[in-house]
Amino acid sequence: MTPPDQALLTIDLDALAHNRAVIAAEAAGAEVAAVVKSDGYGLGAGPVSRRLHAEGARSFFVARVTEGEALRAAMGEREAAIYVLDGLAPGTADRLAAARLIPVLSTLPQAHAALALAAARGRYEAALHIDTGMNRQGLTLEEARALTSAPGCLRALDVPLLVSHLGSATDPGEARNPQQLARFREVRSLFPDSRASLAASAGGFLGPDYRYDMVRAGISLYGGGPEERPDPRLKAVATLTAPILDIRDLRPGDRVGYGSAFTADRPTRVAVVAAGYSDGVIRAAMGKGYAWAAGGRRALLVVNMDLLVIDLGDASASPGDPVELLGARALLDDLAKAAGTVAHEVLVRLSSRAKRVYLGA
Ligand SMILES: *Cc1c(COP(=O)(O)O)cnc(C)c1O
Repeated sequence: MTPPDQALLTIDLDALAHNRAVIAAEAAGAEVAAVVKSDGYGLGAGPVSRRLHAEGARSFFVARVTEGEALRAAMGEREAAIYVLDGLAPGTADRLAAARLIPVLSTLPQAHAALALAAARGRYEAALHIDTGMNRQGLTLEEARALTSAPGCLRALDVPLLVSHLGSATDPGEARNPQQLARFREVRSLFPDSRASLAASAGGFLGPDYRYDMVRAGISLYGGGPEERPDPRLKAVATLTAPILDIRDLRPGDRVGYGSAFTADRPTRVAVVAAGYSDGVIRAAMGKGYAWAAGGRRALLVVNMDLLVIDLGDASASPGDPVELLGARALLDDLAKAAGTVAHEVLVRLSSRAKRVYLGA
């Protein structure tokens, strides 16, 4: 077999299934819904959702109506509740209905629009997003209260699910978590017949109080640790590898790449690798992150568009040898930290140039 000439993105759906099982065991008793917005965190909403459905997932969350339409098509005849986090945005009611998408109402005008539809049609199904302290999306407690006290309103709307989102769940010691929990308890009593979901991935690991009826799992399905650091219970779903193009020996004072990205202060053996930020390796990880090559972690010295350079140390390697830039040995959360970002962004930046292969589809 000829070695690949370009970056290869392998998406391991068996690892995805494993991660779902870990989350389900942790959140025992709660449904594990799959958050597949932004094309399944860049890994392909269709293949990801179909595999999760085979593992038992029946609820899916996307951000945009367009994403919901694409997911409905990708799911074919499969039974799937698809929730749209943007809610009932102006002009989208017919599209939501046509694709059988459930809007997650996130503003008061959206709630009023839903009530108008309920009045016109006799019934309207919509989930309700309540802002318990993240100040980004959702009705305030006061707005929710007003909605329930207006005569007939609550009965006119069919609210299968009450949603809120935690702003600091990756930090279990944060006082904001119990504050948001207390507000969620309060609002929940207003909608006693609705199911409730407060936790995303990180919240699902905060303990039983936070789980309610449904955990909306995103990043942890894809291998990102709930506390923004590697979690050995979770497996890497995305693996990015690329071949070495050349091995070079630098002398002290030699500068590599543009400007003064890296200057050797001693004799240094480096490998030039056929991948760059155009394949999704975040440039900001330059000088801070690592790759896995020749049996060990190798400092990421330079990241350019098409090429990157790693420090081989004492290891020997040859052109054509694979370098792992992300995966089971070049960890997602480590790369995110090195790049000064979150695992979510690392995944959604995995670009289309890398050749994609699905395992377990
Ligand atoms: C993105 C999102 C999630 C999933 O978050 P993760 O951190 O990826 O688990 C859950 N709920 C809402 C409202 C979101 O926007």
